[in-house]
Amino acid sequence: MDLGIKGKRAIVCASSKGLGLGCALSLAEAGVDLIINSRNAQNLENAASLLKSMYQVHVETVVADITTKEGQEAVLKKAENNLDILVTNAGGPPPGLWSDWSRSDFISALDANMLTPITLIKEVLPVMIEKGWGRIVNITSQSVKAPIPALGLSNSARAGLTGYVAGTSRQVAEFGVTINNLQPGVHDTDRIKSLDLHTAEQTGITPSQAKLNRRNAIPAKRYGTIQEFGATCAFLCSQQAGFIVGQNILLDGGAVNLTM
Ligand code: NAP
Repeated sequence: MDLGIKGKRAIVCASSKGLGLGCALSLAEAGVDLIINSRNAQNLENAASLLKSMYQVHVETVVADITTKEGQEAVLKKAENNLDILVTNAGGPPPGLWSDWSRSDFISALDANMLTPITLIKEVLPVMIEKGWGRIVNITSQSVKAPIPALGLSNSARAGLTGYVAGTSRQVAEFGVTINNLQPGVHDTDRIKSLDLHTAEQTGITPSQAKLNRRNAIPAKRYGTIQEFGATCAFLCSQQAGFIVGQNILLDGGAVNLTM
């Protein structure tokens, strides 16, 4: 399907690996020029080379921590008000027990997974509204629909972002700008490897047993791929998705047992 976004320009945050890279790959396949970002310069260059060689799009890189003011400013400066698509993403907070988390842990999680996307959204919206076209996709988590006990910091921050998007998306839809959230279940990335390791350490089983247990709890009996995730992101950024506003799309192989 032609997504109708060839030649558009996107920022994809936290995108040298994992779900962010999946989104960058699918947008590049649709012909979108990219600004990609991560903290590790080598991994980011590797991702840029891959994207350019596979899809011949223009790719610029910004090595920065997107959760900092400086990182956000550097990425936005690169865009120079010439932007059509924003995909927000950052690393997820560490797992733990309710009693582990201090005020500063909550502030860090809120900064990374709620206030960073909100800041970026607020900065790019005027440009998109002026153009009369824009697509914003936030990578959140299935934990918004089905909270994961060990991820209390993530549950809290992402629920806050989801509330903000619910209202804001409806305030800007009339200008041709859509904002939606993608809720990953379990996808095969480094983040999930480290969560499987944490489960193994906590329960005295091997990481491969932890993975098997997690996989078996998913109706699809497998982890999702970054390609599947990225394809959904690219669709939300397409011309065809212009009437999808303020939605939370679950990609979880059926793991969350809900009708709606
Ligand atoms: P991942 O495989 O660990 O990849 C994270 C990517 O983000 C890397 O490119 C990393 O590069 C970059 N990154 C991390 N923190 C950053 C920061 N502060 N500034 C800039 N770049 C940063 O993680 P993932 O699995 O793709 O997860 C992405 C997000 O989705 C996380 O918030 C995670 O909690 C959430 N999520 C994932 C799943 C899943 O199944 N994978 C499920 C639910 C929610 P550098 O380290 O070099 O910066």
